[in-house]
Amino acid sequence: MAGAPAAMAEPRTDVTPPVVTADQVMPHLDALQRIADRDGGNRAHGTQGYRDSVAYVKAALDKAGFRTALHRFTYNGTTDYNLIADWPGGDPEHIVFAGAHLDSVAAGPGINDNGSGSAALLTTALEVSKAHLKPHRHLRFAWWGAEEAGTVGSSAYVRDLSAAERHRIDVYLNVDMAGTKNNQEWLIVDDDPEAFEAFEGYFAARKLPTAKVGTLGSDHESFNDASIPVGGFAKGLDDCYHAACDRVENVDPQTETTSTNAFISTVWQLAARR
Ligand code: ZN
Repeated sequence: MAGAPAAMAEPRTDVTPPVVTADQVMPHLDALQRIADRDGGNRAHGTQGYRDSVAYVKAALDKAGFRTALHRFTYNGTTDYNLIADWPGGDPEHIVFAGAHLDSVAAGPGINDNGSGSAALLTTALEVSKAHLKPHRHLRFAWWGAEEAGTVGSSAYVRDLSAAERHRIDVYLNVDMAGTKNNQEWLIVDDDPEAFEAFEGYFAARKLPTAKVGTLGSDHESFNDASIPVGGFAKGLDDCYHAACDRVENVDPQTETTSTNAFISTVWQLAARR
């Protein structure tokens, strides 16, 4: 192909992933904290705090050029929504799907569990937009409702997919509790080998300690139950787990930023594969 014009070259999808700072991640946690503060102290299923959290994330994604949709489900007689966001482009037969639960428990604002994962995921999506990423595989993001009731929102979503739609998802990546303080290890889900190696490689290159886990009791299990390969990580439990003190002060900004950059790096790598 000597002399082939540059315009015929493959789209560049293997470019170095961006690196964000705490200033790009923590404002999302501050926003979720303010929502909880004005809505009665929590962001649980069926509450104004949850609905305002969805509206906050959706507005940022819509502004960044994502195609967003609300997926409706009912739990305990109350209807609520998962937020789904597609980045236009990429092979629709091969989807890299990344998600985090956006609800809290009723006892507190849920900023580490799981405002931290929600913010890491939103930051990743916004970086995709900023980079005008042209991935080989299609990229889809989701913020799940009613995880705290037993992965209810993600289970409803997977249940509503046809067999053909499930088959199009190459891998699902989850992030739950990304900013835990004073906690040594990143716990990495050992299922999809490419996802595991991408996360493990990111932390190993920075000499950060990890542990391999079979499961983390979060939304990836809804996908795993449908035989979809899964990956992701958590930073482990903290002293304010499911308590009123799970506020923004309960998140370590450096850990949250490292987790976000690990997630960005992995999404970039997996999206570039065929
Ligand atoms: Zn959680």
